Amino acid sequence: MDSKSGYPDLSGSAPPPSGFGPPPPYPMDNHHPMSHHHPPPGMQYAPVAPGPQIIAPPPSFGAYPQNAFCAHCNQIVTTRTDFKVGVLTWLASAGCCLIGCFAGCCLIPCCTDFTRDVEHACTKCGRRLGIYKRL
Ligand SMILES: [Zn+2]
Repeated sequence: MDSKSGYPDLSGSAPPPSGFGPPPPYPMDNHHPMSHHHPPPGMQYAPVAPGPQIIAPPPSFGAYPQNAFCAHCNQIVTTRTDFKVGVLTWLASAGCCLIGCFAGCCLIPCCTDFTRDVEHACTKCGRRLGIYKRL
């Protein structure tokens, strides 16, 4: 067992019984001395493909609840509408005042939803998703 050519016939015959034959060559010392092929624990190859990220255009919100994608919930949710006093509300109110309706007509735009902006919020997380402006 001084040279590697002295192996018993390993081809075509039964393996040598245990305890016979040369010792297994280099049982534990055959590691690569310097090369570490294992990647570092931090994954460097993210599954996200590089390139321009396709961002869906923001949906155009209307005056009524609708389905919209909530980036916070990461799903499609039905928005909750909330009427806000917007520019048109003030313009309509000011217009009523200019016309001369001093008998409370100028308050009508503040009470009706036709002139108010509609804020769409997520029904799950409550975050604002968008707003529908009259103007
Ligand atoms: Zn949400």
